[in-house]
Amino acid sequence: MRYALATWAPSPNYTHRRSGTAIDLVVIHHTDGQERSDRAVAHLRNAEADKSVSAHFLIGQAGDVYQLVDTDDTAWHCSGWNKRSVGIEHVARTPGELSHDDPGLPLTAAQLQASAKLVAWLLHELKLPIEAVVPHCSSPTTTHKDCGKDAADGGIWPRADYLGMVTAELA
Ligand SMILES: [Zn+2]
Repeated sequence: MRYALATWAPSPNYTHRRSGTAIDLVVIHHTDGQERSDRAVAHLRNAEADKSVSAHFLIGQAGDVYQLVDTDDTAWHCSGWNKRSVGIEHVARTPGELSHDDPGLPLTAAQLQASAKLVAWLLHELKLPIEAVVPHCSSPTTTHKDCGKDAADGGIWPRADYLGMVTAELA
């Protein structure tokens, strides 16, 4: 599937289809990098072997939405869960990520709203419950321990508020 409200920016970093695996997760990420979405999109379209990563979607700080991989195909964003999931990156950064005095880059209201709208669309189209929305840090094999981490656990994600926004979009 392709999302009508996204800019289509195809990445070569994907595996064709899903080997028959059903999608049962929507995995939430943040980039922990710089703030420009065009640079983040370019990174996810880089086919250099040692840098080949991708997500199905990326959402910038202004709420700008890009789709890099069709949801029918497997993106490379969450080792172990790729076949069963849709991955969404958000341009945002945990404080201290770049240097000890890095203030970080918080998620914005426009970004969270655009994300909630996209996730509501995915849950509706894929017939999944809201429990399917999980942060990358909840994967047992992740090396990115901050990714999608709840503010209540010291991360940058307002998880309860965000899921509330998704629920509102579903209604
Ligand atoms: Zn991640």
